[in-house]
Amino acid sequence: MKIGIIGCSINGAYLAWKLSERNEVTVFEKNKAIGEKPCSGLISERIWKFIPKNEDIVENTIEEALIYFPKKKLKLKLNPKMLVINRKLLDQTVTKFAEKNGAKILLDNEVKKVYFVRKTKPQLIADKIYEFDYLLGCDGFNSIVRKALTLKKPKYKLGIYAYKKKKDESKLVKVFPSKNGFAWIIPRGSRVEYGILDNVNIARERFDKFCRLRKFKPKQIYSHVIPEGLVKLEAERVALCGDALGLTKPTSGGGVIWGLTACNILLKNFPNLKKYNNDIRKFFGPKFFFSRLGNRFARFFGQKFPRILPKEMYFDSDIY
Ligand SMILES: Cc1cc2nc3c(=O)[nH]c(=O)nc-3n(C[C@H](O)[C@H](O)[C@H](O)COP(=O)(O)OP(=O)(O)OC[C@H]3O[C@@H](n4cnc5c(N)ncnc54)[C@H](O)[C@@H]3O)c2cc1C
Repeated sequence: MKIGIIGCSINGAYLAWKLSERNEVTVFEKNKAIGEKPCSGLISERIWKFIPKNEDIVENTIEEALIYFPKKKLKLKLNPKMLVINRKLLDQTVTKFAEKNGAKILLDNEVKKVYFVRKTKPQLIADKIYEFDYLLGCDGFNSIVRKALTLKKPKYKLGIYAYKKKKDESKLVKVFPSKNGFAWIIPRGSRVEYGILDNVNIARERFDKFCRLRKFKPKQIYSHVIPEGLVKLEAERVALCGDALGLTKPTSGGGVIWGLTACNILLKNFPNLKKYNNDIRKFFGPKFFFSRLGNRFARFFGQKFPRILPKEMYFDSDIY
């Protein structure tokens, strides 16, 4: 079968790797190189369930997160632990697996238009016109596939971060909740990352203040939109995955493990994409519900009734 994938970031590369075992796969990537997506790369050890273990892409291991509420510090003991992964190397590694299996990766090749006409195969225009049996949109928040299907954009926030050159191999992430988001400090071994996730209109101002208070003057700033909320889709020859589908955790904005989990659901059902779309809703619907609830609960008690919260608790970041 001929499969087209738009976007060669983590989800596009992973699906290309797996699907090219038995199919003819072409991946379109608008960037000139793999691994351009700004991302902190804080990903649980479950990543090794998806790709072979590779310590070369790990910068540090995080065992605890300290949440700074105004009148209380809550320690989360992370189980499983979180890895600070070099996201560029992760995407490049998975893309190499896809290429080894025979997937064609077309860099610097933006898809400009996608056509879905009922009962015909999906077509797209990039450097030329292509037709596929199945088309997978792994093209992130601004997905052209989602737009062509006239589906609504998920809600979104802005993530901004910068690095400070400083050796820090500590195993603790610091998190500072705000009304609609949070700020973070991640020790990355040879550098420290300062970041913020918040509403688009105030994120930059908050980030500048956060850095100023820590006497940090960033030289280069990275930022990107983070979607949140499952997009509903019913189609037979087309599917969305990862950020294009709004699959990031409401608590943290992390999307890699949820995205790859969705990829495995797709692979299990392929080529029955209608079933994939149903299974995704069944699997992630409750996760979104409980994650949002847990998020609100923790923020409410952390701000208003800090005494009710324990000092320390175990936390699985992939559930929420
Ligand atoms: C600041 C920030 C920090 C984050 N930190 C974490 C973290 O610590 N842990 C975690 O798990 N997640 C994190 N995330 C979320 C994570 O980055 C995303 O969930 C993940 O990258 C989604 O992968 P994806 O493959 O779905 O899409 P994306 O990574 O968004 O990639 C989409 C790809 O499609 C390509 N593309 C788009 N349109 C076209 C087109 N028309 N033609 C061709 N190519 C196209 C893009 O160039 C891109 O390569 C963070 C996100 C941000 C913004």
